[in-house]
Amino acid sequence: MPLSPWIESEVSLRELNTFGLPAVARRLVRIRDDADVRRLLAEPALAAAPKLVLGGGSNLVLTRDPEGVVLKVEIEGLRLVETRSDAYIVEAGAGLRWHDLVMATLARGWGGLENLALIPGTVGAAPVQNIGAYGIELADRLHEVDAVDLVTGAPLTLTRAQCAFGYRDSVFKQSLAGRCLITCVRFALPRPWQPVLGYLDLERKVAETGISAPSAAQVADWVCSIRRAKLPDPAVIGNAGSFFKNPVVSEDQCRDIIGRDPHVVHYPMPDGTFKLAAGWLIDACGWKGKTVGRAGVYDKQALVLVNRGDAIGAEVITLARAIQESVYGRFGIRLEPEPVVI
Ligand SMILES: Cc1cc2nc3c(=O)[nH]c(=O)nc-3n(C[C@H](O)[C@H](O)[C@H](O)COP(=O)(O)OP(=O)(O)OC[C@H]3O[C@@H](n4cnc5c(N)ncnc54)[C@H](O)[C@@H]3O)c2cc1C
Repeated sequence: MPLSPWIESEVSLRELNTFGLPAVARRLVRIRDDADVRRLLAEPALAAAPKLVLGGGSNLVLTRDPEGVVLKVEIEGLRLVETRSDAYIVEAGAGLRWHDLVMATLARGWGGLENLALIPGTVGAAPVQNIGAYGIELADRLHEVDAVDLVTGAPLTLTRAQCAFGYRDSVFKQSLAGRCLITCVRFALPRPWQPVLGYLDLERKVAETGISAPSAAQVADWVCSIRRAKLPDPAVIGNAGSFFKNPVVSEDQCRDIIGRDPHVVHYPMPDGTFKLAAGWLIDACGWKGKTVGRAGVYDKQALVLVNRGDAIGAEVITLARAIQESVYGRFGIRLEPEPVVI
């Protein structure tokens, strides 16, 4: 049976993932509203096919051609839903670029997302791993998520509690993994707004500039300049940001690791556990700047793996495994990858 003309075939994904890894989508459909999902589910050839939801491809490692059909999310839209005494409720389409959302909300005078400026990717992917940076997580600003069930086509709305957010984790990575496509996200942006400046790099900016009460736009500006100095621009060198999560360990484990190396970077958490800096552990094992095949470890930040040119996904995974083994051998810690591996 011939496929409908809106279903694209044999689409290269190399330009659609920030690592620049080669893969081909046998079928690709652009989703511009939730009716498009239902239209796809009505296609006999694709209704039951495996589905990969694709945003900006900035948290993906493609090691093969995805099976079935790729759903490229391109749902636009931004509007103020409600002005409450404690928050602006703002709704954004899942296909908007995350950084464009941050800048658009700031331009309208709604602060709250500035610490998350310049994170690549789309609005719809942000709840999936509960993006976070510089002292703020998406969970701190999220109100509700609208999604479509990829099996039944039914719409669903999840409250913040139902999203079950954790550190780089949510229900969308657990019981709903691969099960739904997020169509729009509603945010609760705080009124009155106050800057969140507890992160060391931001404290330094306050000290350097003497600005102790910055505007939200000023904080965004600082965050962008800090990020540009530290992280590789995917347009220049392929990468997916931090490759490993920062491990969280018990007090006893932390003491054991400090016994192995007294300089280990660790932060006490409110629940009595300790978060270790994965980048520091990798650097301590001598990986910074190293290359294996055509994949490598970024020379300014050991937490970021990069494509040194024409790498394939398998080379990135081989490098990641070698790093995991050496960190385990030296510190007894198993590093967990942050990106989704296909
Ligand atoms: C240079 C760089 C810096 C980064 N810095 C940070 C950072 O500071 N903090 C941070 O948390 N992350 C960071 N990241 C990771 C990444 O930007 C985020 O995880 C981002 O939210 C991924 O968005 P995306 O649209 O590219 O998702 P994709 O890579 O396209 O998809 C990621 C996962 O989400 C799923 N998904 C995507 N869209 C939807 C949807 N609409 N509905 C359901 N599922 C969906 C996909 O199926 C996949 O499983 C960084 C990445 C890079 C390259």
